[in-house]
Amino acid sequence: MSMSRKEFIHTAAKGAAVAGAASLTAASASAVEKKMSAGGFKVTIKTKRLDLRHAWTISRNTSTFKEYAFVKLEKDGVFGLGEAAHNVRYGESLESTVATIEKASPILQSCDPWKYVDVNAAVQNVCEGQTAAKAGIDIALMDWLCKWLGIPLYQFWGLDPRKAPQTTFSIGIDTMEMVKQKVEEAAPYPLLKIKMGKDNDEEVLAAVRSVTQKTLRVDANEGWKDKELALRKVEWLAQNGVDLVEQPMPAHMLEETAWVKERATIPIIADESVKTSQDIPALAQAFDGINIKVDKAGGLQESLRMIWMARSLGMKIMLGCMVSSSLSITAAAHLSPLTDFPDLDGNLLLAHDPFQGVTVREGWLILPDKPGLGVTGDF
Ligand code: MG
Repeated sequence: MSMSRKEFIHTAAKGAAVAGAASLTAASASAVEKKMSAGGFKVTIKTKRLDLRHAWTISRNTSTFKEYAFVKLEKDGVFGLGEAAHNVRYGESLESTVATIEKASPILQSCDPWKYVDVNAAVQNVCEGQTAAKAGIDIALMDWLCKWLGIPLYQFWGLDPRKAPQTTFSIGIDTMEMVKQKVEEAAPYPLLKIKMGKDNDEEVLAAVRSVTQKTLRVDANEGWKDKELALRKVEWLAQNGVDLVEQPMPAHMLEETAWVKERATIPIIADESVKTSQDIPALAQAFDGINIKVDKAGGLQESLRMIWMARSLGMKIMLGCMVSSSLSITAAAHLSPLTDFPDLDGNLLLAHDPFQGVTVREGWLILPDKPGLGVTGDF
């Protein structure tokens, strides 16, 4: 007996609906079986040294390794991991980061993980500043929740991982020979981010341009202290294949930066000027966009809030990172489908990465589809 096309579609749809109902029943049954025990997490804190592939210099300082705190939250046979990549620019150290996680531990040990918004709010109230520690905790919390649910974090947020844009690869300040070598090593990345703001910007650009014609993004790290100089630099860069400039002037020079932004022909992005959502409204006049870093925002939940607030003000969104392992970078990468300019390369600068997660193919961020952050490796 043959079936008309219409009948076939109708029957197929019915079959799909039945299959859908069956899987829903299975899902709710497993949720019942998986009923969570009362009480909070077992909290473990570790520190790890991460050696860098090359010494890393920006306009502030140079380093050859990083040593960060990592946090593990365990409950009901499921664990979540987080990394606290602290930044001396914001008064953080390894010691202050560990101390902050210890101080927040009683909250985590007695919390209900499903009230994760309240858990995060309580953690944010511990120790003024110290956002890296709070970010490490929030990353571990979101990892745990999504592993428990058995879905990737991007799915929890309703995001399409195929919308993750191309990331930049950063070239640190170095000798001109090393700059050229680093640019050549960065061959698989179609977009490069160049650190400037020392007194040899012209030399750096000439070295980079002697080996590549790729689109560049420039981070001045507050290096230009005069508005006329900053505008001259920005326009010179725009004429040389640079499509945005990050933090041209010191964070406190907002009026001068607004003057530059008004005249510049490429976007000016805030980095050192912005930490959390409450900083954003005051920056809308001076910048075209903001660079969100999960580490300085104090976590994934605050980073998501920052994205919506910046969008409501018509601002572009860059998604940055610290030099850190694939744990932090993958956590941030789950937000990347909502951003314009991801700059998630901190893990690529390590000699040995203790974790594996997001990968990069021809610059495109490929999010892992495993539950939680989808990160594997040694805690
Ligand atoms: Mg920056």
